[in-house]
Amino acid sequence: MPESELSLKSMLIGDQWIAQESGAFDSVNPATGTVNFRISGATQAEIDLAVDTAGRAVRQPAWRDMLPHARAALLRRMADGIDANAEVLARLQMIENGKVWSECKAQVASAAATFRYYAGVCETLCAEVTPPRGNYLSMTRYDPYGVVLAITPWNSPLTMEAQKVAPALAAGNAVILKPSEVTSSPALELGRIALEAGLPPGILNIVTGLGARVGGPLVQHPGVRMVSFTGGTATGRAIAHAAAEKLMPVALELGGKSPHIVFADADQDAAIDAVIGGIFEGSGQSCVAGSRLYVQQSIAQSFIERLAARAGSLRVDLPDAERAQMGPIASFGQRERIEGMVEAARRDGAQVLLGGARPGDERLARGAFYLPTILAGLKPDATVVREEIFGPVLCALTFEDEDDLIAQANDSVYGLASGVWTVDYRRAWRIAQRLEAGSVWINTYKQLSISTPFGGFKQSGIGREKGITGMRLYQQSKGIYFGM
Ligand code: NDP
Repeated sequence: MPESELSLKSMLIGDQWIAQESGAFDSVNPATGTVNFRISGATQAEIDLAVDTAGRAVRQPAWRDMLPHARAALLRRMADGIDANAEVLARLQMIENGKVWSECKAQVASAAATFRYYAGVCETLCAEVTPPRGNYLSMTRYDPYGVVLAITPWNSPLTMEAQKVAPALAAGNAVILKPSEVTSSPALELGRIALEAGLPPGILNIVTGLGARVGGPLVQHPGVRMVSFTGGTATGRAIAHAAAEKLMPVALELGGKSPHIVFADADQDAAIDAVIGGIFEGSGQSCVAGSRLYVQQSIAQSFIERLAARAGSLRVDLPDAERAQMGPIASFGQRERIEGMVEAARRDGAQVLLGGARPGDERLARGAFYLPTILAGLKPDATVVREEIFGPVLCALTFEDEDDLIAQANDSVYGLASGVWTVDYRRAWRIAQRLEAGSVWINTYKQLSISTPFGGFKQSGIGREKGITGMRLYQQSKGIYFGM
């Protein structure tokens, strides 16, 4: 792999680092607008080679017959490699998606923890002996699919890559990882770490390139047997269509428009901190961002005023600045999209309580920065209330009582996450049961654990990643009968 940051970065197929200029593209630092690297882009030849290489590697006895404890040991060595390269990985993520340094470091640590977790799952999860209904012994065992394609987004690349690659390898598959063009470098580094850890060549391949030119043909390739995707709902739908043609299983973790709910009896200081963290951390580029705030009418005005005052003091700065709390948007194109949505809301009569503009600070003028923004006076059918913005934009809304709240909160095509603030645990329980969302946080928000299954209701996705069953996502069950 070329070490110079200015040379063309190669993709990894088998144990070969392959440079390909014809589909190459630039990795851009969103904090400064400068080009970080030039990255190879796969053509059909590399796509075919990657699928063929992965297919041959997964059938080799060295991998096919490797016992679970030995596979687990490899995953632990990958975790150690991630820890040993933590600074490099965090820096690559920071210069490619602009997340603040502390968050990049935390995400690297979480990626290593994910590999260790699935090492544990790999060597402890059992096949089953099922109850016989005759003179036989019946068992269920779990086989890998073969070649799994993992497609990851740019907002939390390493976290998502670990969440897919670790369980898919634990399950005995070979993986082709297609990272977002915005954040290819951490994935390439992960490929290098895997080879150094002793993963057989071809079991993890990193194929870079643009989504439509590389991701699409990989999904359609007959040699790919399962796809695990995280990204936007429109792309997820296109992948599901292509998978239907092949009758191929997919796991889709898609967009969200998560309601964050504050009842009048809540601990308001704690709720304000959580609402701010829930939407402005990572500049709002999080699938679980609490982007619709619902405050009970009796406290709405004072709560939203205090919230806006505190959010206004967030420090928007270069991601490696010492006390930075919010970095830039991950790309200039994404900032344009956010600006377009806020401007449309303004034209439709929204009140801009905070932000709604780029920061005035000259030091940030060349980056894709956007201020924390709070919109109010919105109709329930406003585009900003209904569509995912994927930026630091909070829609402040109110509700009267539980029934009104549930009707508004569930009035969305999405159902990824939600948060409820109240000291009444009976009410919290009632609301948690009625919310149409894959995760419900009560008196906390964005609490994520690798041991708890995660995924969406409705158009927020299909399937559940993480947890023990996160390994089963990458396996198919097989019944075996021994006549007695
Ligand atoms: P996409 O869904 O387009 O990108 C996610 C991944 O899919 C990337 O690796 C992308 O590659 C790849 N991809 C793109 N098109 C195809 C295709 N036709 N076939 C296979 N793979 C493809 O997200 P965007 O970057 O365009 O963001 C659009 C919106 O999606 C955001 O504004 C946000 O609303 C949402 N989103 C949600 C995320 C989540 O975590 N739920 C994460 C990211 C985005 P490449 O980057 O090279 O195009």
